[in-house]
Amino acid sequence: MHMELRNIHKTYETNVDSIHVLRDISCTVENGEWLTITGPSGSGKTTFLRCLSAIELVDEGTVTVGGMSYESASDDERRRFRRENIGYIFQDFQLFDQFDVLTNVIIPQLPDHNRSEIEKRAKELLNLVGLTERLHHMPTQLSGGEKQRVAIARALMNNPQMLLCDEPTGSLDIENRDQIIQALQEIHAQGVTIILVTHDPELGAYGDTMYELRAGHLTKKEMPERKYG
Ligand code: ADP
Ligand code: MG
Repeated sequence: MHMELRNIHKTYETNVDSIHVLRDISCTVENGEWLTITGPSGSGKTTFLRCLSAIELVDEGTVTVGGMSYESASDDERRRFRRENIGYIFQDFQLFDQFDVLTNVIIPQLPDHNRSEIEKRAKELLNLVGLTERLHHMPTQLSGGEKQRVAIARALMNNPQMLLCDEPTGSLDIENRDQIIQALQEIHAQGVTIILVTHDPELGAYGDTMYELRAGHLTKKEMPERKYG
């Protein structure tokens, strides 16, 4: 899915100060491209993804995703667009502790779909991320890496054209990290546009284009050499 950002700014107002997180960011993402953005903690990576998914709106500038201009759309249109086109892997997983793995994966689709149909797809996706043995475990019984993989399976349920990944390997050891990267590579090979943000510079080697987010500015970088995988 094609994406166009023009001169976007985002500032958070708190009770003590205002934090100018994104400063004049412009960037084009081609359909099917995999963009990796590295940046230290607090540099605005999560904020950036929230703005791309219209969970949050920018203060200045324009965001156009798949021909949809977020500024000129209504809340409802933006929400529907997100639900139908975007997969979002949250940094903190956002799993429901009271439901098992399978239910966590189908939950966003439950209101609009037949349960047995989406369970079939959920099982395929949980197989893709190596969790076939964990369908009926509860989130509290999973390791950080397993939770992360549940979050990935859930993000793929709507067959998204664009996948936003917030530190998708953040709590994984190298072996598990490779497994996730491999899953993302398979998804990318199917034509899905991927935007991955991470504090891990080594992950910059994955994808087509690498950027760095620092002090609110987005800068294009040379692709580094792959150290593993
Ligand atoms: P990263 O994901 O790179 O660690 P974030 O996007 O989470 O960075 O945060 C960037 C900056 O914005 C941080 O200084 C953070 O404290 C601040 N911030 C994030 N969300 C909010 C919010 N809702 N209100 C106020 N400040 C926020
Ligand atoms: Mg973050």
